[in-house]
Amino acid sequence: MKKIGVLTSGGDAPGMNAAIRAVVRTAIYHGFEVAGVYRGYQGLIEGDIENLNITSVGDIIHRGGTMLRTARCLDFKTDEGFNKGLQMLRMFKVDSLVVIGGDGSFNGAKRLAEAGFPTIGIPGTIDNDLAYTDYTLGFDTALTTVVSAIGNIRDTSSSHGTVNIIEVMGRNCGDIALYGGLAGGAEAVIIPELDTDVDELCRTIIRGKKRGKLHSIILLAEGVGKPYELAEQIKSKTSSDVKVSVIGYLQRGGTPTPNDRILGSRMGAHAVELLMEGQYGKAVGIKGNQMIALDFDEALNMKKDYDKGIYELARILAI
Ligand code: ADP
Repeated sequence: MKKIGVLTSGGDAPGMNAAIRAVVRTAIYHGFEVAGVYRGYQGLIEGDIENLNITSVGDIIHRGGTMLRTARCLDFKTDEGFNKGLQMLRMFKVDSLVVIGGDGSFNGAKRLAEAGFPTIGIPGTIDNDLAYTDYTLGFDTALTTVVSAIGNIRDTSSSHGTVNIIEVMGRNCGDIALYGGLAGGAEAVIIPELDTDVDELCRTIIRGKKRGKLHSIILLAEGVGKPYELAEQIKSKTSSDVKVSVIGYLQRGGTPTPNDRILGSRMGAHAVELLMEGQYGKAVGIKGNQMIALDFDEALNMKKDYDKGIYELARILAI
């Protein structure tokens, strides 16, 4: 192995830059060359690849997004696009690859590994929707943004006595809503993994109002959807003024938290170490604060479930 490639793919996430920096610097420290592939698999197919050195990754650890940019690329799912990607890797003399992205990106990385190309995955997605790892890159930063937004909205909610529905990201996984709700002291958390009893929710709001609670904050994961319909239902059942805030892309960017920078740094370094040991076809993760690496198949087949203990705690503390 002489040259390690690195790319970011799918949705961007804070902490990706820390991971890129760690891949580049760990590899160079151990005497390897590094190539940066721009715009994910799209850039790979197009040969948008250039060598990176120690200074290429200077001044990025504190930045959100990804310096390598990212893309979604349907062509890479076709045999033709995939083979073009492999051809480009050979052409640029890249002999191993670190893919930073979510489960979609891991499927592409898995395919490369199955074709015999040494590839390692690093989980970069704010949703925290990969079951094999305790945390994905970007989750902690997104959570921090969400909790800050809850604080701001709570001020208005308390002042006006409104019920506020805050929609946060999470298509299939409600972790941002769940942990954001717990940290932000929300009255209710609605996640895609669980059916919600709107009547019960309204009873909680009415109970809170009766004992003088000034605000009601409801965290809703985007995968559940229909925040405005829910607002109408709550309005008619509780006679409350109900406001909706959709945080959207505000929570995808921003300066990464120390935890995401540390996680990105550790994962990037671990990916290079695995490649140096001749291990590949694996996804790097963190369990109990230790770096782990699982075969792509195993990592991707694990089913993510919400943490019932955390959900119950958020529910009890919201009484
Ligand atoms: P994420 O990685 O954030 O989950 P996507 O699901 O959009 O984002 O996947 C990112 C990219 O990974 C896709 O645009 C595509 O280029 C690549 N990809 C996804 N699935 C496959 C697959 N089965 N084979 C090859 N490439 C894939």
